[in-house]
Amino acid sequence: MRTAIVSVGDELLVGDTVNTNAAWLGERLAARGVTVERVTTVPDRLADIAQVVNESLAAYDAVIVTGGLGPTHDDVTMEGVAAAVGKSLESHAEASAWLADRGGYAADNGEPRTVELPAGARFLPNDEGVAPGAVVESVYVLPGVPAEMKAMFERVENDFTGTETYVERVLVDEPESALAERLAELQRRFGVTVGSYPGDGVRVKISAADPETANEAADWLREHADAVDD
Ligand code: ATP
Ligand code: MG
Repeated sequence: MRTAIVSVGDELLVGDTVNTNAAWLGERLAARGVTVERVTTVPDRLADIAQVVNESLAAYDAVIVTGGLGPTHDDVTMEGVAAAVGKSLESHAEASAWLADRGGYAADNGEPRTVELPAGARFLPNDEGVAPGAVVESVYVLPGVPAEMKAMFERVENDFTGTETYVERVLVDEPESALAERLAELQRRFGVTVGSYPGDGVRVKISAADPETANEAADWLREHADAVDD
């Protein structure tokens, strides 16, 4: 399954908040064998959200949108998603009952907006907060607060299925440029996917469809490069 993530929030674009949600989702999805092929960060602006969600939905099997679900005027994600799928926002009875049961928004008047979901959407309860999430077509709309996002993702995680891959990592104490040819050879010889991440040494990540191939490829690289234990 191929997915895209859309991260919504002005604060992400100016660097006030680091996009840990996308990193966490990428890791969780990869562990399920689901690929994340695009992460797009957009401001809290309806037209931008609608456009990117619409394009992502056309190109990928599922889209995960995070942030901008709250009751304040700058939270326009649900409207953007509704526009992307050509639906109107409607007060969702189940979300409304859930929120009332939970005590709703105490001090402000946020309830009417947050229980409006795209018509026909599946409502997702927020175990860690109050703003409900939603699934419409194959768009999963989750909150921005990391703890809320994680808890809600865990409710829908089983919808995301893929082919498991097996990973081996080798740390090499050589310049990346010197390694390039051997990494290409590794890929050719074993049919594995090879990622190379320079920093303190080069961290080589080898992904394969079965553990034996990943192991054999890693052993070959250890024999043919200046590998160190990490
Ligand atoms: P709530 O459900 O509480 O109303 P929300 O869905 O409206 O939240 P935002 O208002 O966009 O979410 O963000 C809430 C908090 O979560 C902010 O502190 C924001 O910086 C943080 N946040 C939002 N998006 C991300 C992200 N992609 N990674 C990490 N933190 C994020
Ligand atoms: Mg926001």
